[in-house]
Parts: sequence; C-alpha cells; structure tokens
Amino acid sequence: MHYVIAHYHELALKGRNRPFLVDRLVRNLREALRGVTHCHVESLAGRIRISLDDPTQWSTIKTRLDAVFGLANFAPAVHVSSHLETMTKAICESVQSLPFHTFRVTTKRADKSYPLTSIEVNRHVGAAVVERTGAHVSLDNPELTIYIEVMGVGAYYFYERFPGAGGLPVGMSGKVACLLSGGIDSPVAAYRMMKRGCRAVFVHFHGHPYVTRASADKAEVLARHLTRHQYYSRLYLVPFGDIQRQIVLTAPAPLRVVLYRRLMVRIAEELGHANKCWALVSGDSLGQVASQTAGNLTVVDEAATLPFLRPLIGMDKVEITDQAQKIGTYETSIEPDQDCCRLFTPPNPTTQANLEDVRRAESLLDVHGLVKQALEKVELREFKFPE
Ligand code: ATP
Ligand code: MG
Repeated sequence: MHYVIAHYHELALKGRNRPFLVDRLVRNLREALRGVTHCHVESLAGRIRISLDDPTQWSTIKTRLDAVFGLANFAPAVHVSSHLETMTKAICESVQSLPFHTFRVTTKRADKSYPLTSIEVNRHVGAAVVERTGAHVSLDNPELTIYIEVMGVGAYYFYERFPGAGGLPVGMSGKVACLLSGGIDSPVAAYRMMKRGCRAVFVHFHGHPYVTRASADKAEVLARHLTRHQYYSRLYLVPFGDIQRQIVLTAPAPLRVVLYRRLMVRIAEELGHANKCWALVSGDSLGQVASQTAGNLTVVDEAATLPFLRPLIGMDKVEITDQAQKIGTYETSIEPDQDCCRLFTPPNPTTQANLEDVRRAESLLDVHGLVKQALEKVELREFKFPE
C-alpha cells in the first residue's frame, strides 16, 4: 500500500467548526480523486491520509491535489511501525541510495502519548543516519529533510512535501453567484471566493445574436477550467442584447453602462436566489474603468439586495493579471471576443451617475418584464471535474 499524507492549515480550522471543515475537505478530496482506482481518503490524527494501490498514478493525483483548497501541503509517504528501532532501521536503509551530504530530521507526533519527544526522535534517527551514511546534520540548509510523522502504532516518513493551494474547503462558505464576463478580472474574482470556501455559480451575459457567441464560448472554457476546484459547476448564459437595445432606445447615453450593470445585478440575483446563493461577486477593481468609480459602484450596488462582493476591489491590473496567469485563466481571457458591454457602449459614459437620474431612466423601462424575459431565455451549462 502507498500513502499520501496531507495537512490542512491548523489555524484556519480551529474552534467548533473544525469537524465540519475536516469532513468537507475529506469529501472534496474524494471528489477530486474520483476515477483514481483503489484510492481511499480518510481523516486520521489531525491529518488526512490517502491510501492507494498503484503508485504509478502519482502524477495524476498530484495534479488533482494541487487544486484542492484547504490543503496546506501533501507528501507521498512510506508507512512503517512507530517502534523506534524499526523506524530508524527502515529510514537508514531508505536514505542509503539517496545522494546527499547534509540532512535534518523533522519529526511531528500526532499522538503525544508516544514515549519519546519529537526532538528525541530527531536525535536518535539523525545519529543513526550519520553513522550509516557519513552525512552531516544541517538544520538550516539541508540537502535532504527526513520528515517523520508518528501517528499511534504507525509512522510515516517522506523526503519531499508539496505546497497545497491553501484557503478553505470549497462548500463550507456557502454559494455565491459570480458574474463571469470572459475578461481577465472576473475569473480571478471567482477563484478568490472559491479559495475562501465558496461554491461559485457562474452567470454570463452575452450579446448574441447581435454579436458572435465568442464571449459565451470563453465563459464556458473559463467555467470548465475553474471547475477543477469545485468538481461541479453551473454556468448560466443570459441573452442581454435585447435589454441593451431597450436601454439604448430610452435612456441617456452616459447612463447606459450603469443601467446595464443594474439589470445584470437583478438577473444575477434571481439566478442566485434559485441556487441559494448568499452573495453576488464581480471582478470590479476601484477606478479601473468608468463603470468602476466609487460613485458608479454605489449606484450599481443599490440595485442589489444580496451582499455584492468585489474581491479585487483593491488590486491593480498588474496584480490581477499576474494572478490570472498563475491560475491558468489568462490565455483564455485575452482571446478576442465581442463582449456584450462593448456593444452599445457610449463614447462618453458617466463616471458619476446620479441615482435619481438612473431611477428616472429605469422608470421608462419595464425592468421587471426585461428581467423576466431574459430569465426565460437563459441557457444552463453544467461542468464536472474530473470529467
Ligand atoms: P473583466 O475583465 O472581469 O471583464 P473588466 O475590467 O473588463 O472586468 P467590466 O467589463 O467593466 O470590467 O466589468 C466589471 C465586472 O462586471 C466584471 O468583472 C464582471 O464581474 C461583471 N461583468 C461585466 N460584463 C459581464 C458579462 N458580460 N457577463 C457577466 N459579468 C460581467
Ligand atoms: Mg469586461
């Protein structure tokens, strides 16, 4: 049998919520590893242990674990008895074939009733390794770290530990409706909420048939890509061209963009309610474009009844782009499309919409009817990971 020992962030998981969080993480790991044969995930002594029959699946497993929020780190590990001499002998034999001149031993005990302290185990195993290999101990800059985790009658050792994605297990912070445009920012915003434990429901507005379906196609690629973090996703594709036409026909040009956004908010909220979402999420960053000034964001917010979250509000474009590259959405986001907002975008959008003016413009529209009409034409796409 082969094992992977995974750790979660202790601090994030303190308090009464802890069993709930660990349980959620275990269930997510089982989802993430679906399709890996004879793979078993369980919570054990403050860690998570994954047992597998077939070590050749490691690269698949590693890729899947890389995307699991809530993991601090993980390591393929070897199981051995926690009896001190047995453990020491196994480690000495195992390190013999490794090329290193300096090393350290880092022991953790899950079970404090073990007769030796961690430091005593470090010293004992370290001395035996020195004797067997002639290598030197270097606590600060070792070529090899021998990690030992003592867990009851068993122990695990390993030499390489991979950083996890961090954050909180998806699903423990409820669901949020993410406005996904196909641009650079909104996939990053969704990612950040997922990393804080939210399940994202994606909503995209497109201008088809007035423009091509390119933006909707991009939204699909992005939603599918992000599904690796939450295993199942819904993407709602909302036709928005008719609504924009109505707005263009009745409202002053400078107010259009804010009016589009307020209509988007109302529609996303309906979809959010249907999916039990507790908040809306957008990729707005303060001052980035005319629709994202403090004044306009306030007027857009006013149309929402759910909390409207903007996880990128304090980030600049360079920081957001950097994140988009890291999470693998950038390449898709920069593909050309025909975003519905550029359709009918006035040359001179206001940076300071007045709420009274906006309300007056809306009173000339059948807002309720437009929302209803759009909802009737919504298309639903579903994605699963692993597919
Ligand atoms: P992005 O790169 O996310 O498109 P942006 O800098 O282009 O952002 P805007 O286009 O003004 O900024 O959009 C601000 C936010 O409004 C987006 O991050 C997204 O959350 C939402 N949004 C804009 N257009 C759409 C759309 N067509 N469908 C869904 N959400 C949208
Ligand atoms: Mg955009």
